[in-house]
Amino acid sequence: MIAANNPLLKSWIDIPENSDFPIQNIPFGIGKPEGKEPRPVSRIGDTVVDLSLIADYGFFDNLGIENYGVFYSPVLNDFMELGKPMWSKVRNRISELFNADNTDLRDNTEAKRACLYEINNIQMMLPVEIGDYTDFYSSIEHATNVGAMYRDPKNALLPNWKHIPVGYHGRSSSIVVSGTNIHRPYGQTKADDASAPTYGPSRLMDFELETAFITGTKSDLGEAITIENTNDYIFGMVLFNDLSARDIQKWEYVPLGPFLGKNFGSVVSPWIVTMEALQPFLTDGPKQDPPVLPYLKFKGKHGYDINLEVAIETPSGVETVICRSNFKYMYWNMNQQLAHHTVNGCNINIGDMYGSGTISGPTPDSYGSMLELSWKGTKPVELNDGTERKFIQDNDTVIMRGYCKNEDYRIGFGECVTTILPAK
Ligand code: MN
Repeated sequence: MIAANNPLLKSWIDIPENSDFPIQNIPFGIGKPEGKEPRPVSRIGDTVVDLSLIADYGFFDNLGIENYGVFYSPVLNDFMELGKPMWSKVRNRISELFNADNTDLRDNTEAKRACLYEINNIQMMLPVEIGDYTDFYSSIEHATNVGAMYRDPKNALLPNWKHIPVGYHGRSSSIVVSGTNIHRPYGQTKADDASAPTYGPSRLMDFELETAFITGTKSDLGEAITIENTNDYIFGMVLFNDLSARDIQKWEYVPLGPFLGKNFGSVVSPWIVTMEALQPFLTDGPKQDPPVLPYLKFKGKHGYDINLEVAIETPSGVETVICRSNFKYMYWNMNQQLAHHTVNGCNINIGDMYGSGTISGPTPDSYGSMLELSWKGTKPVELNDGTERKFIQDNDTVIMRGYCKNEDYRIGFGECVTTILPAK
């Protein structure tokens, strides 16, 4: 067992009941304390741990770290460059330091005051400098729903879908951290019965419930990452809201795929939950039939049991959970996505981000987008304040949450929040 995952561990930090951040989580992020520069941080309960000051006080000594500069960087890319064995060592060391029995920091009042913050006193930033961003389309329920709506319910999946983890290259410049609001985009749309397109604000604003994984190791151009080796490259996961303007998307997507309907803003949760923290929640994914090609075949469990939900908070301040889904429904797993992504020799970099694709489940209350929940606008979704939605309205706030839970503990991602502001 990974030392930091031991269910018996308790911390000397108070952890609120049902916190996403017990001592067994130890996520990584970038936080900006007031009046200070952004720096790498971790979190236990509602306490943020300043890793640059933890390094200053010598608590990371003797781990074999050659460059302590990684703990003073405004992004986690440098830390990830230390490599997978060191990700693990640092996480285990943080776990040790906050163990109830460890007095090193617990009984050092001065160091404690310097290294720890309340979550409310920290501004969370984008955790990595994102090089490239890829979005997949790996939920069979989502792909089937969309295919049924727009093409043919009898042949909802295109012929390639069960053979290839379908994806496209997106844009990283407009990926923002939770708490950043996004204006409704302008664009070109064409109604089915119109003879020509018009220009104006999108009328069909949507979210896509996704997670994303981040690579913390790079590969060389011309080299494929075999599926057995993919775990060495994946650092961790975040929640990902792939905002989508359905009317813009529908008119533009032929033949090269999504473009301006997608790249006006995507929102990520600030805490990267490591693959090590998620390990106890490994589970089997759906059976893949027909069998996949050999380079996509895998052994063991590669799915993760992550409960996911989406809530809409209307301008009245009332929140309604409109979707409850789970990452375990994904037909294609992250290892297959990464093996496929590099099978042609495409190189990947530290800090690259890979969206899962909309994570829909089998039941109508588990669909991961308004497009599916309202079935293309034909079934309005009722909200707790008495209003209804077919798509997102101005000043609605979309809140995504995700957590794993077993009989021992709960490991979560926190929230991924954005408000859709009126078109500029
Ligand atoms: Mn997407």
